[in-house]
Amino acid sequence: MVTSFVHTTHPARIVFGVGTLETVADEVSRLGRSRVLVLASPELAEAGDRVEKALGSLAVARFDGAAMHTPVDVTETALGVLRGAGADCVVAVGGGSTTGLSKALAVRTGVDQVVLPTTYAGSEVTPVLGETADGVKTTRSAPEILPETVIYDVELSAGLPVAIAVTSAVNALAHAVEALYAPDAEPVVDALALDAIVRLASGLRRLGAGVDDLDTRADLLHGAWLAGTCLGAVGMALHHKLCHTLGGSFNLPHAEVHTVILPHAAAYNASAAPAALARTARALGAADAPGAIFDLAAILGAPTALRDIGMRAEDLDAAADLATRNPYANPAPVTRAGVRHLLDDAFYGRRPAASGEPRAGAP
Ligand code: NAD
Repeated sequence: MVTSFVHTTHPARIVFGVGTLETVADEVSRLGRSRVLVLASPELAEAGDRVEKALGSLAVARFDGAAMHTPVDVTETALGVLRGAGADCVVAVGGGSTTGLSKALAVRTGVDQVVLPTTYAGSEVTPVLGETADGVKTTRSAPEILPETVIYDVELSAGLPVAIAVTSAVNALAHAVEALYAPDAEPVVDALALDAIVRLASGLRRLGAGVDDLDTRADLLHGAWLAGTCLGAVGMALHHKLCHTLGGSFNLPHAEVHTVILPHAAAYNASAAPAALARTARALGAADAPGAIFDLAAILGAPTALRDIGMRAEDLDAAADLATRNPYANPAPVTRAGVRHLLDDAFYGRRPAASGEPRAGAP
């Protein structure tokens, strides 16, 4: 049977290696820009200093106020700094929160973006921006949101503490797992997703074995780039929808929520997307993908229960209502009862049943 598909490539330049931070001035010049606003966060002020030093006279301003969920008031303050300095480019160093600020500035002003990611969230390779105003998060997509250049520096990323690295890597894993059963899945993205899963699982296992060297961090960062590319290329499903709801409406931490939910979302879809789950399991080097993902997180000491990351039992019904209010594509039908049951399993941190075993409440 002939399989039809559509493949679109996003125009971004990717620089990957060890010590690549030192190329930042060349990369800005390559874009034809010469007045840089450096973006960082209080936790990453030191990395911001290194970037500023490497930029030399190209750096004309600095803003260290990036915050979670890209609050619009923070963006407006940064916009004042950008305009005051006459900047024509932003260079952002940090996780998804700093990348979010960079994107928010670019979509408002048209400045170019060079991003140096320090986590595995993957935002740097997507044309998507989520912003919050008055407690409400809205998401939009536009070509000018996509950063022009991404500099992945393995050495820089190695500064990410192991506990954050683990949940962030599972966050990346989630992009690849859901890409394999996306309604618009296609062969190039499938290949990227499978390679991402192999690299992320390998990096996580090495961290678990106490082997925290540059090869381990390179696997994780390389996997994160590929997984982020999947996130920017095809539609995500139940897992991302649930995490968005839990993070946005119940203020749970982004990467930790992904870590807890992924095994359960994968189990929910196992019987409706058996081929995608079988490919995921092979890439993980395991017999059963949901159980293997759960075990990987548990062995590494990452959270496996929503109740351990700030969720309250009395909010589970409201979360199930919110996550099923609007229809969206997902391999298994998204039912209120099915999602409520999933949330219960995730709340108590139950290991998901192996694929093929019946789950109460699942469609
Ligand atoms: P983050 O940027 O908030 O970073 C998580 C934590 O890690 C922070 O406390 C940060 O200070 C710390 N940190 C980061 N790098 C560090 C380092 N090298 N050393 C020490 N600490 C470090 O969170 P994130 O998980 O990277 O990104 C989550 C945010 O990004 C969310 O707001 C999410 O919605 C957004 N996001 C957007 C997209 C998209 O495509 N638009 C994709 C993924 C994530």
